[in-house]
Amino acid sequence: MKPWLFDILACPIDKNYPLKLYIFSYENELEEFRSILNLFVNRDLNLIKNEKIFEISCEDNEIFLKDNIIIEKTILKSYLDLTISSLIEFENVFDKTPNKLSKKCFELVNSDVKSRIIDFSKNPHIKSPDNILPELYLINKIKLDFEIKSGILLCTECKRWYPIIDTIPQMLPDKYRNEKNDIKFLEKHKNLLDEEFFNQDLKPFNI
Ligand SMILES: [Zn+2]
Repeated sequence: MKPWLFDILACPIDKNYPLKLYIFSYENELEEFRSILNLFVNRDLNLIKNEKIFEISCEDNEIFLKDNIIIEKTILKSYLDLTISSLIEFENVFDKTPNKLSKKCFELVNSDVKSRIIDFSKNPHIKSPDNILPELYLINKIKLDFEIKSGILLCTECKRWYPIIDTIPQMLPDKYRNEKNDIKFLEKHKNLLDEEFFNQDLKPFNI
C-alpha cells in the first residue's frame, strides 16, 4: 500500500476519516530511502527535475504546477494550499519500523518541510517553485514510492483495526474476519506498538 491511499481511506463501518496508520515494514530497499533523503538534503534541482515528477509552466504571468499527487495543472498558490492541507494526514502516520531512514523522511515532513512550504506560500511574489521543489519532491516520493508491506489502519472512532498484509489493506466487515489469524498478526507485531495501543479496547479482536 502506498501512503497516498491513506489520504482517501475511511473506516468502512462508520465512515470515520482520517484513520491512523501504523507502519511495520516496507517493500522498499534501504538504498531507496537513502537516495531520496540524499536528493532532498543536497537540494540538487537538476537531479530532482530529471525524475520528471513536476511539470512547471507559466501562462499569462501565472505559474502552474502539477505532479504525481496533484495531477491537474494547478495555479501555484492553489497547489500550495492543497499540499499544505494534505500534510495534516502525515500527523496520523506512525512509522514503527526499525528503519531510521524512512522515519527520518516522515520526521522531516512533519517539521522542516511543512514549515518551509507554509512560509513559502505566504510570499505574495512567488516567481518559481524551485525553492521548495526538494520539499515537494520528498512528499511525492513518500506518498507514491514508499510501499508499505505490513501495518495497521486504526479507526479512532470505533477502535477497529485493519491489517495491511503483503501491501494490501484488508478492510473487511467483522463477520468475514478470521479471529485466529488476526490475533496472530497482532502477536507478531506487538513489540512494535506500545501498551497504550492495546489498552484502547480494540475491535473486533485484541490480545
Ligand atoms: Zn470505525
